[in-house]
Amino acid sequence: MGCAFTEQTTPGVSRLKPYQPGKPIAELARELGLDERNIVKLASNENPLGPSKKVLVALEQAFQDLTRYPDGSGYQLKQALAQKLGIDTAAITLGNGSNDVLDLIVRAWVSPGDEVVFSEHAFAVYPIATLAASGTPVQVPAKDYGHDLTAMASAITEKTRVVFIANPNNPTGTWLNRDELRVFLDKVPDNVLVVLDEAYYEYIKEPAYPNGLLWLESYPNLIVTRTFSKIYGLASLRVGYSVSSSQIAEVLNRVRQPFNVNSFALAAAEAALDDDDYVERSRMVNRDGLIQLTEGFQKRGLDFIPSLGNFITFDTGRDGEQVYQALLRQGVIVRPVTGYGLPRHLRVSVGTEDENKAFLSALPKALGKAV
Ligand SMILES: *Cc1c(COP(=O)(O)O)cnc(C)c1O
Repeated sequence: MGCAFTEQTTPGVSRLKPYQPGKPIAELARELGLDERNIVKLASNENPLGPSKKVLVALEQAFQDLTRYPDGSGYQLKQALAQKLGIDTAAITLGNGSNDVLDLIVRAWVSPGDEVVFSEHAFAVYPIATLAASGTPVQVPAKDYGHDLTAMASAITEKTRVVFIANPNNPTGTWLNRDELRVFLDKVPDNVLVVLDEAYYEYIKEPAYPNGLLWLESYPNLIVTRTFSKIYGLASLRVGYSVSSSQIAEVLNRVRQPFNVNSFALAAAEAALDDDDYVERSRMVNRDGLIQLTEGFQKRGLDFIPSLGNFITFDTGRDGEQVYQALLRQGVIVRPVTGYGLPRHLRVSVGTEDENKAFLSALPKALGKAV
């Protein structure tokens, strides 16, 4: 109390609440005096397979250049991405996680008082980035836990600079099909940026799920973001990117830190892109795990939100925070989503078969009943 600096922040920062990350394994081990090996963390949508062998080899080589600054242009990774995705390198902006790119977008285009539109229950970084720039967050009520695109289009005003769409959304796992999104993109004025956040794109084989990259030519106001944190298994290294018109990428390049992606992240991401087997295995483990968890919920009579991501959000039917705490006491870390307006729900990431089993086994006790 009484510190002038807590009162002298910018207007947006005064309303800002810090991002709540998943509880680290080491922290729970310390708190409960448990062995880290007995803790299952299904709280941050991480790849449960451990790193790709190709990535480990690339990292070892990267140590040779430890004393040098990274390649600030990310030349090699951009080349590899361009080739993989069939796009121009000038369309790519690299970030310290895709989180960084989301932040750059707001910093480049949102002045204090400008509006940023996103959905209720959508990814927490959208309001955080908006408020950090003293923009005005415009949260549109969700429909069936997902984005209500009709309402979102109606929420766009003269002051709107950016609309964020997560497809699929985290933490709800809800998704928008090709037709719905196209209708929406047609409605958005040319001078409003649409950020299509495809953090889980590589997991998805659903035919009606759209690839945003195919729309970049038709919609010059579109920015697609993706990440190496999820299926590529590089959450710790922080690397993500956006694909957009080269003019938009040029603006983002002005505001980013000169070396926002470090050498290890660059080398690892390039190697990860080249490991198709790892990606395929990750997709299979996720597909099987989603089925395992879904069946587990059904068997226990619990409602869940069908998900295309590497996580599922389920309805505990009671105070989610208490169930979360009761799972922690059994060494299982999931994610409370009260901050997302879902106080009864919990989000569980898809783990290995054994991890999913450990979670499902701990669930009845945590719910206070024998099922
Ligand atoms: C995980 C996630 C990201 C990616 O975050 P990184 O900064 O790349 O680790 C972005 N958007 C959504 C919706 C996510 O769930």
